Amino acid sequence: MTDMINPPYRLLMGPGPINADPRVHRAISAALVGQYDPVMTDYMNETMQLFRTVFQTENEQTFLIDGTSRAGIEAALVSLIKPGDKVLVPSFGRFGLLLQEIAQRAGAEVAVREIEWGTVFTPEQIEQAIVEERPKVLALVQGDTSTTMNQPLEGVGEICEKHGVLFYTDATASIGGNDLKVDEWKIDAATAGLQKCLAGPSGSSPITLSEKAVEVINSRKVIEAGIASKEQVFDEVDRIRSNYFDLAQVMDYWGPSRLNHHTEATSMLYAARECARILSEEGMEQAVQRHYHHGRAMLEGVKALGLELFGDLEHKMNNVLGVYIPEGVNGEDVRAGLLNNFGIEIGTSFGPLHGKIWRIGTMGYNARKDTVLTTLAALEAQLKRSGASVVAGGGTGAAFDYYTEVGI
Ligand SMILES: *Cc1c(COP(=O)(O)O)cnc(C)c1O
Repeated sequence: MTDMINPPYRLLMGPGPINADPRVHRAISAALVGQYDPVMTDYMNETMQLFRTVFQTENEQTFLIDGTSRAGIEAALVSLIKPGDKVLVPSFGRFGLLLQEIAQRAGAEVAVREIEWGTVFTPEQIEQAIVEERPKVLALVQGDTSTTMNQPLEGVGEICEKHGVLFYTDATASIGGNDLKVDEWKIDAATAGLQKCLAGPSGSSPITLSEKAVEVINSRKVIEAGIASKEQVFDEVDRIRSNYFDLAQVMDYWGPSRLNHHTEATSMLYAARECARILSEEGMEQAVQRHYHHGRAMLEGVKALGLELFGDLEHKMNNVLGVYIPEGVNGEDVRAGLLNNFGIEIGTSFGPLHGKIWRIGTMGYNARKDTVLTTLAALEAQLKRSGASVVAGGGTGAAFDYYTEVGI
């Protein structure tokens, strides 16, 4: 017999996933109801309303894609892009590369602008690229966990509007922990995931679409999915190239007509609804402030241990910190020590940063004083054991000082 699943308790202080809020675990374990049970349709409507608060939007079309965050990315891009359309991706990390790849697979002609990892684009650079490339869609990551950077989006929507470009953003890592104002910033499509600042498990991707985006998507609608009548020979270029991610169909499924599409992932909807409920209860501004303060306490602590910080700190996400691995220290040994001795996970890194930095997260349910202080204490002890010279008591001391200063 295989034993019942019983994982060890870990404190997940990496760049995501993080520990889910216990309330989210309780919501997931709630009883299942049928697809068209009025109880379920009420939950769906409530979920849409709650995520309007999270995305700070009035967009009618605000719902969930069943799947991890990249399901939301893929749904947005494959539904907006026709083969041959031009897409501009200003890329500043690993998730910019993902947007390029998904747009390419959707048949787009992809134009890319790249900058050094650890920096962000200015609105002027983005506008210049738009003028040069004349894309249909601008696909831009907000917070890229691979570099910890938070791309400023304010003003980008106006630029897109001026040039008639649709503006999509992947806000998976940033939403809930950093400002994201979908309506105010004129974002046409935004997608997210639960496993970063939303305090849930991976597996559901909230999405919101402006009226302009909805129009573009619905213009590609095939009335009876997959069946073209003799008169209605649909244009193969026009038809959305995915059934699962056909947002025209998914909107009809979430909308009043409730046209059958997939079977809603009921337990994940419970989870997503609870994540959004907890955040709305706290208030979006308060949640961003909480992420700011605990992120800052971690930063002060790590710095006071004598470690060096990565990237443009002015544009760092509140919820994740890049830390240079000190010279002569084996980064993977320290991570393994933290996991095996303290049950704490911190993140490694990818691409040009691999082997150079760790990434430490303070997000979602783990953006708390106790998790920050525990992690700093453990990091100090483990670094000392790995032969690094650290300032004894420096980490927790500086974090304590910061907390005192801001009254936490
Ligand atoms: C973490 C992250 C994701 C995660 O995608 P999954 O499909 O849920 O693994 C996507 N985009 C960004 C910007 C992220 O930081």
